[in-house]
Amino acid sequence: MKITASAGRGGDGVVRWLHAKGKEFGGPSGGDGGMGGDVVFEGIRDIAALARYRYTKEFKAEDGAPGEGNNKHGKAGSDMVVYVPVGSVVTNTTTGEQFEILEHGEQHVVLKGGAGGLGNQNFKSSVNQNPQQATKGKKGQAGDIDIELKLIADAGLIGFPNAGKSSLLNELTRAKSKIGAYAFTTLDPNLGNFYGYILADIPGLIEGASAGKGLGHKFLKHVERTKLLVHLVSADQDDVSAAYNTIRGELSAFEDGLAQKQEMVVLSRADLVTDPKELNRKMTELQKVSGAPVLALSVLDSESVKSFSDHLSKTLEAS
Ligand code: GDP
Ligand code: MG
Repeated sequence: MKITASAGRGGDGVVRWLHAKGKEFGGPSGGDGGMGGDVVFEGIRDIAALARYRYTKEFKAEDGAPGEGNNKHGKAGSDMVVYVPVGSVVTNTTTGEQFEILEHGEQHVVLKGGAGGLGNQNFKSSVNQNPQQATKGKKGQAGDIDIELKLIADAGLIGFPNAGKSSLLNELTRAKSKIGAYAFTTLDPNLGNFYGYILADIPGLIEGASAGKGLGHKFLKHVERTKLLVHLVSADQDDVSAAYNTIRGELSAFEDGLAQKQEMVVLSRADLVTDPKELNRKMTELQKVSGAPVLALSVLDSESVKSFSDHLSKTLEAS
């Protein structure tokens, strides 16, 4: 989103005189103007936060009020707070300043309100007991602001094509990912809202993805900002540890930090293995190679989806 915004103007200082009882001319008493309000950007955990500004024409903080008699300062103008989704990169294209908002409640003053003018009381001196001067409030800063939302998913679903990532995302959230039994059905990382947490489906991971093979490298950068990885290995893989290791290899080849992230390991499409012994063997193998507890899951089995969902929400809460 691109907006033009301006901070409030400072209130003017005023010329006033004290009217003390019995004294017609009690000296200068003009107060200073109030500060103009700032334009402040604040992070909020709502990816649709910008929708509320669809019809906002003016992004303007309030002007400061002029000073008053009896040396009273004018009221400061209220700030204009612009709520942007966590993960926004805000650029003041007028000055080139840029920053990221990564936390809920994080605030940045982007445009500073103007200072209030000085009332005539400020100009009193031994040589000028009755100053007639006061200054005007200063203009607030104005600028063109560019707001860009970069993805920060709380958890990223990784695994080979057809591991069941999109299907699981659909089960857990109401995202409508394309689902198909062929590679690269998903061209964008799909997002879903899971009890306020953002889940991302990271498609296209294959051997060589980190080196630019396929489309995976395009999406690996999205994993950089997630806290948690959910690693799906399809139960119908003959060699589940090889499948697991290949994806892990791509992660660390792409960037060391990716392999350090907290990971949940899932044996997906578990219904495809009908022999319980065989399923157990694959679970154990995956557990051994990943060093983490492994959950078996099938989107056809709502019980298994439910227990995974509970586990995921607890893990996200704790992370
Ligand atoms: P992705 O490439 O990892 O996103 O995988 P998809 O979610 O597109 O799933 C690939 C194929 O596996 C689709 O035909 C799905 O319908 C199917 N699938 C996904 N999850 C399961 C599951 O738990 N059991 C079975 N039998 N099929 C599944
Ligand atoms: Mg998919």
